[in-house]
Amino acid sequence: MRNDIIIRGITASPGIAVGPAFLFQESRILFKGTLKPISDIDNEVKKFKAAIKKSKKELNDIKSNLVKKLGFTKANFLDVQLLALEDTWIIDETIKKIRKEKKESVQALLEISKDLLTKFKKIDDPYLRERITDIKDVTNRVIKNLTGSMEQKISFPDKKIILVAEDLSPSDTAQLEKEKVLAFLTNLGGKTSHTAIMARALEIPAVVGLREITENIYPGVKIIVDGYAGVIVVNPTEKTLKNYEKKKKHLQGLEQELLGLRDLPATTVDGHSIDLSANIEFTEDIDSAKKHGAHGVGLYRTEFLYLTQEHLPTEESQYKVYKNIVDKLYPETVIFRTLDLGGDKIFKTNYPENNPFLGWRAIRISLKRKGIFKTQLRAILRTSDRKTVRIMFPMISDLNEIKEAKRTLEEVKGELDKEGIKFDKKIETGIMVEIPSAAILADAFAKESDFFSIGSNDLTQYILAVDRTNELVADLYDHLHPAVLRTIKTVIEAAHRNSIWVGICGEIAGDPLAIPVLIGLGVDELSATPMVIPEVKKVIRTLSFKESKEIARKCIAFSTPGEVRAFLRNIINTKLTKIKELILGEFEEF
Ligand code: PEP
Ligand code: MG
Repeated sequence: MRNDIIIRGITASPGIAVGPAFLFQESRILFKGTLKPISDIDNEVKKFKAAIKKSKKELNDIKSNLVKKLGFTKANFLDVQLLALEDTWIIDETIKKIRKEKKESVQALLEISKDLLTKFKKIDDPYLRERITDIKDVTNRVIKNLTGSMEQKISFPDKKIILVAEDLSPSDTAQLEKEKVLAFLTNLGGKTSHTAIMARALEIPAVVGLREITENIYPGVKIIVDGYAGVIVVNPTEKTLKNYEKKKKHLQGLEQELLGLRDLPATTVDGHSIDLSANIEFTEDIDSAKKHGAHGVGLYRTEFLYLTQEHLPTEESQYKVYKNIVDKLYPETVIFRTLDLGGDKIFKTNYPENNPFLGWRAIRISLKRKGIFKTQLRAILRTSDRKTVRIMFPMISDLNEIKEAKRTLEEVKGELDKEGIKFDKKIETGIMVEIPSAAILADAFAKESDFFSIGSNDLTQYILAVDRTNELVADLYDHLHPAVLRTIKTVIEAAHRNSIWVGICGEIAGDPLAIPVLIGLGVDELSATPMVIPEVKKVIRTLSFKESKEIARKCIAFSTPGEVRAFLRNIINTKLTKIKELILGEFEEF
């Protein structure tokens, strides 16, 4: 293999790591049979046939449920999997293997399924290639019924590795063993996919959108992952390793230095203060938020509690987790975002959808599943008696959604009151502005809200019509697009006209390059993933409010994101010379 093969992807989480590649292949098909020859062949075949029968029944049940809920055509996608179970080829070949090679049924099915997948991958027909997922799904279902195991988790070797996968779901990422995974690389994904967001929260370097990385490396090959620049180097020479060691040391040194800002305020040189808070997904993130000098939590993504569990969490189990978070942060405030499932955060009860980001997501689910919504609101309200809790509703696109969500909140308050449970009766209630309709009608929505928090991740994908998780269009996804900046300006002005405060909790709030514009546009609060907070604070403390306003004025007058970026890079290069390499992900000696 050649040395120093450089592959560019999309930076998902900063940091530099070096280690051997560990391939997480074929998505979830990782079960291994015992490989021991079996003695009772007839029994093994019987077991296999029973598992097929059970799988068919499960699929038929799921299908008839879906037909009831979604209609016939929407449930048709399951026919392909049902057909695969009728497919005598897969079944016959598996049985043949069991009989001839005395293989355990799990192992035999895995081998047949892998053969079939390899053949399908070579076919140049997009329809057939899409069936790969169906074959994987159906194989997993039969295996689950053969082994009785639940969904497969990634099992790691006993050493530190660079995890390489086609894709990782947010819940896969949430369950990564931080001590073992030095970094991860994926074929798919974008910078603001929830997998990337999780990587930053876990402080694991990551590069995504590497297209065919799983096809182009072999297990064990040494890889340098440069999460600052979004680049990997496969099979590096000693010289390259040394260079990266130097870059790592230098940038880590800068990061360490910035931690010294922890207790200093996020105030510009001419005295304009910004509330700088943290985005968290789990209780453990609070330590990191504190270490990096965050002022409370501006976005708690509560859905991750649901994503890491088999069943919907009860009121009591939610209350325990929420209370712990509120206590740990007291007297700082916590903004609870109610459930934002859907999109790329799929829970078991989610239905397959053609356009999940435009579909049944967030508040749309909560308002249709009032039981789940009310249970969550009860658990949140019960933590609010010391007035350090706020509630925020995600994905608001229609005024009636805020009204209905608030009506539901009032109902829950009434119930708690009757039960004599203490809570903050005047709890502040805000919305996420992340859908263009909410931004356009911000004046009207502000009248129903105590605060706004701009979700730039979704706002960018909906304004630009670019899927935030799709590496094929990642070059078009840019939160510094002037159209996005102008929309942010509209929202901030509408909030201030209506005397409410406005924050930003999308990834733009943690992008040091964007900070001068956001301050200049007059944002009151920025909430970002903990690890970037010191950099953001450094930028704030370096600039004046006056010059930031001028910077913002210039940025929104540009017509392309490229112009905005070039202009802002220049500002960072001249005003933040000491940490510019950290902000821009570059290193002079490279
Ligand atoms: C956003 O959309 O900007 C946001 C903060 O929410 P999420 O990334 O969880 O969709
Ligand atoms: Mg969002």
